[in-house]
Amino acid sequence: MRVDPRRSRERMVRDQIQGRGIHDSAVLAAMLKIPRHEYVDEALHAQAYADNPVPIGHGQTISQPYIVALMSQALEVLPGMRVLEIGTGSGYQAAVLAEMGAKIYTVERIRELHLQACKRMQHFKYHNVYCKLDDGTLGWPEQAPFDRIIVTAGGPIVPETLVDQLGDPGMLLIPVGPSRQAQELILVRKEDGRIKQENKGAVVFVDLVGRHGY
Ligand code: SAH
Repeated sequence: MRVDPRRSRERMVRDQIQGRGIHDSAVLAAMLKIPRHEYVDEALHAQAYADNPVPIGHGQTISQPYIVALMSQALEVLPGMRVLEIGTGSGYQAAVLAEMGAKIYTVERIRELHLQACKRMQHFKYHNVYCKLDDGTLGWPEQAPFDRIIVTAGGPIVPETLVDQLGDPGMLLIPVGPSRQAQELILVRKEDGRIKQENKGAVVFVDLVGRHGY
């Protein structure tokens, strides 16, 4: 069976994204435009627009479309902002944020995924995305402070290093919990030197592995 990527994307955005109350027009436009199937293995192209995460190798996944949309909207990203992403994976989330006009600094700990995503960012001409191979729980101190930080893997705590690298005002989004089965999406806001946390609901992510992860 051949997939029609454009129609699959239109259906994905209508049913999974708008249908569940995501209304940020920049998020919708980005997800309508980006060929998500080109961020997964060719054998999985037909699954790329399904309502679930898809394997990308090394035990990792590209996040479910709805989760990408939810996080992108919750971050309130504006053009020109500096965004740090931990967990480059396929590069799809980075591409969505890049389409929203931000400058993305993205860190991945698995070499093969890092190299593949970098190549993808070049291929799609995202000159506003910078990739680094490292333990992202340490952040990217040379490029700090960031207006926004997004962690796309779930850890046991909110890493203090990341809060320190957040600008003021700034927002950090991270799945936190004792295990994969019990994570909650935490939004940390820094404003006038004060830190506030908000719980955005239950989520399931692959493990954040590193100094301040599992
Ligand atoms: N944002 C990705 C989702 C990838 S899944 C996408 O759009 O495809 C999460 C990724 O986080 C995995 O690739 C995993 O290897 C990576 N990861 C886990 N711990 C990490 C760490 N400490 N630093 C950087 N990346 C990490």
